[in-house]
Amino acid sequence: MSLIFTPLGIRGVFGESLTVGDVLKLSNIFGDHLGEGSTVVVGRDTRDSGPAVEKAVVSGLLSAGVHVINLGVAPTPMIEWAVDRLEADGGVIISASHNPPEWNALKLVGERGVLLHPDEMEALKEKFSKGEPKTVPWNKVGSYREVNLVDEYISEIESLVDGDRIRDAGFKVVLDLNGGAGAIVTPYLLHRLGVKVISLNSAPGIFVREMEPRPDTLGDLASTVKAVRADVGFAHDTDADRLTLVTEWGEILTEDITLALVVDYLLQKEGGGSLVVNVASSKMFDDIASSRGATVYRTPVGEAYVAHKMLEVNATVGGEGSCGGVIYPKFHVGRDGPLAAAIILERMSVEGKTLSQLVDELPKYYMRRESIPARVNWDEVSERLIKFAESRGMKVSTLDGVRMDTDDLWALIRPSKTEFKVRFVVEGRDKGEVDGLLDELMKLVMS
Ligand code: MG
Repeated sequence: MSLIFTPLGIRGVFGESLTVGDVLKLSNIFGDHLGEGSTVVVGRDTRDSGPAVEKAVVSGLLSAGVHVINLGVAPTPMIEWAVDRLEADGGVIISASHNPPEWNALKLVGERGVLLHPDEMEALKEKFSKGEPKTVPWNKVGSYREVNLVDEYISEIESLVDGDRIRDAGFKVVLDLNGGAGAIVTPYLLHRLGVKVISLNSAPGIFVREMEPRPDTLGDLASTVKAVRADVGFAHDTDADRLTLVTEWGEILTEDITLALVVDYLLQKEGGGSLVVNVASSKMFDDIASSRGATVYRTPVGEAYVAHKMLEVNATVGGEGSCGGVIYPKFHVGRDGPLAAAIILERMSVEGKTLSQLVDELPKYYMRRESIPARVNWDEVSERLIKFAESRGMKVSTLDGVRMDTDDLWALIRPSKTEFKVRFVVEGRDKGEVDGLLDELMKLVMS
């Protein structure tokens, strides 16, 4: 298996498809791309391969003449925020996020801590495949320092929410960190907000459950929330850019609910403006935006597309609905799990409602997400899908894959960007209609 170079980063199994040599070369090329004398912030999650990858990243950057500020173990959102606050030229995030422990990955960010645009990643891929690492002379090697910004990061989140209201509410929260980098931030943030915190799986680097915080992987969290009668359960992935919620009844919510609750609240708090979500996100975002007088923009799937669109339209809030990733540009333009947790608590305290009450108030749709392993000729398949949609009088968009819409029912079919798979999302008001359309589309793709 070879290195996977996607528009969102490079990733692979450490020592197999992702070697220290690859990491050194990519970091060096990224450093050279930013230019001698630039400053780059580096940080990593809690995987066993993290220190080995980190040393290679640092070495690649320093030898390109780039100054390095190393945060060590840090959640992805903290690294992005640090690039912005330290006015650095870029950042290297070492984390395979929700992938299994043997994986690792590099995500590259530019100024303001925003993920590189996929076009810029494409240019780097070209340089990576053709170019060779460059070494500056001995007296031009970059400088190196290690800093700890945990306290500043937590304090800034605290300043963005109504701490007094949250403290007065006296919440009890169960937190499932799964040994990830969130362990150095979220328990302390919640403690400062007067929350009684019960932490599960909090030893960094010990991954107890599957890495992805999904309804089928969070059984322990749900049963603990019920057992200790907590107000809410929070779960992160390994780099804590994501947040999954569990209600006081132990119901594990899908991650688009996290984003919906935060978006609805912030659009109201900020008086509307604009919202950016990807094309695979629920129709409830259109309903929420319209009820808050906001404009919705949709992008291809991928946080980088969402983030760059948010900068372009000066969005109030945005995120990736399918993975609980909330982006609030007032803080920084990247998904932030600890911030999302604080905003959820603020909303519960300000509105005096339980989490399940807030969820009940959201627009209701029935959604199915499926994928089938297949190597398809996408040009042929998309043509078939477009004809099908037009024959049903559905509106077609080809922003990413093929999306077809009526007022109450929509579907998105797209080839995976990283695997030989075709992904389907179908959502509507009526379960029968959703199941029926999904069935028809899967047959059509495979025919
Ligand atoms: Mg992640």
